[in-house]
Amino acid sequence: MDCPFCDIESLKPRLIYKDDFVLAFPSNIPIVPGHIIVCPVRHISKIDEISNEEIIKIKDFIILLKNSLKKSLDAEGFNVAWNEGSMAGQSVNHLHIHVVPRKVGDAGIYEYEPTKFLYRPGSRAESPEVELSEIAELIKKGFEFNK
Ligand SMILES: [Zn+2]
Repeated sequence: MDCPFCDIESLKPRLIYKDDFVLAFPSNIPIVPGHIIVCPVRHISKIDEISNEEIIKIKDFIILLKNSLKKSLDAEGFNVAWNEGSMAGQSVNHLHIHVVPRKVGDAGIYEYEPTKFLYRPGSRAESPEVELSEIAELIKKGFEFNK
């Protein structure tokens, strides 16, 4: 299987969190700094396949992550969303939820247009791995359990 989200070794430098159920790391093509991918560890494609245990763990983690993003990056709001199917913009066939911290004047767009809101205008260049590691460290410091 050639799935970038199952390749934990490659994700390690920018890993924010991993337990038996949940995995989180910064997107390599972020809309704004701190754009985080949260996914089940288990390789599934659609929300239909998620277990109740996984969805609860993911929900609990997203709450912690939002608090961290408020502290570490001064997030004022969030886009939380997933794409299902290539027609809807799902580029990796492993279910993943985008958590995008938003604040006034950031690089993303604000109006809700379902096929566009997970994209920023203009280029969406890939971020260097070192930048992603730095943002992961910053966000990890924002978690309560690190204090
Ligand atoms: Zn996978």
